[in-house]
Amino acid sequence: SVPLSFFAGIGAASKKGILFKSGQVIEKMATIRNVLLDKTGTLTKGRFSVVRIEREPGIEEMELLSLAAGLETYSTHPIAHSIVNAARARDCQAKPFTDVQEISGHGLEGNSGNDHVCVGNRKWMLARGIPVNTADTWEGTSIYVAVNNHLAGKICIADTPKDDAADAVRQLHDMGLHVVMLTGDTEKSARMIADKLHIDEVHASLLPEDKLKEMQNTRIERGPVLFTGDGINDAPVLAGADVGAAMGSGSDAAITVADTVYMTSQVSSIPESIRLAKKTVRTAQ
Ligand code: ADP
Ligand code: MG
Repeated sequence: SVPLSFFAGIGAASKKGILFKSGQVIEKMATIRNVLLDKTGTLTKGRFSVVRIEREPGIEEMELLSLAAGLETYSTHPIAHSIVNAARARDCQAKPFTDVQEISGHGLEGNSGNDHVCVGNRKWMLARGIPVNTADTWEGTSIYVAVNNHLAGKICIADTPKDDAADAVRQLHDMGLHVVMLTGDTEKSARMIADKLHIDEVHASLLPEDKLKEMQNTRIERGPVLFTGDGINDAPVLAGADVGAAMGSGSDAAITVADTVYMTSQVSSIPESIRLAKKTVRTAQ
């Protein structure tokens, strides 16, 4: 049975916007040795802004943006919001689409009139056999647009760390915890954020199932793992970690499978929740 003090712990945590879904979670949280974090929307604000648009010959910038925005209308990903907003800000009408599919960790595809359009990352374009010849010099996140399997252009977007992210990572280090980033974004954009925040280890270009594998490796090598994420792509690893914590701003899928929710979506909720759990377990003994 769960000691009474665990209910007090759940109550104290909820006042700080930390939702422990059970008493068992508190027990597990107190044993955590490693903190694994998703990047976009977890460590970063997830409010991307479009910095520039690079088009290939034969397509206008407005046409490119209207195609990208048309597809991204179907996604709730932070990247999608930034592209839809950029179109709106430029009075650029999003193209209507049919047969739209979102491929988690990759992007979206669908049909606009007679054209088949893909919007997503470089890795996905290459996997689809779409040549992406230009070197990517943009240090942020690059989203590619392809029309009928030909590259049409690239949208350069940037995201910034949450205001409390660096301090939260410092607190985790002070608690003796190992801090790892697991992201579906590229090595370059991952490094840019990880270096700023002094994260110990970075794994980039991960698909949802790769995140799960990396988490399991860390657990075998270094002990119990807390994973914090926000996306649909984080659901498998949230479910598989010793403790899965979802950001309150995250997708329904993430919040449903997680056993802890950080209602304020602050990174500092992570060290706070571990401290609270340890205190609760001490009181129970
Ligand atoms: P993270 O793990 O950092 O939260 P995701 O796994 O959600 O990132 O996304 C990984 C990558 O997949 C993104 O960086 C982007 O390149 C691509 N991607 C995901 N969703 C979309 C989308 N709606 N539009 C374009 N690209 C996307
Ligand atoms: Mg995310």
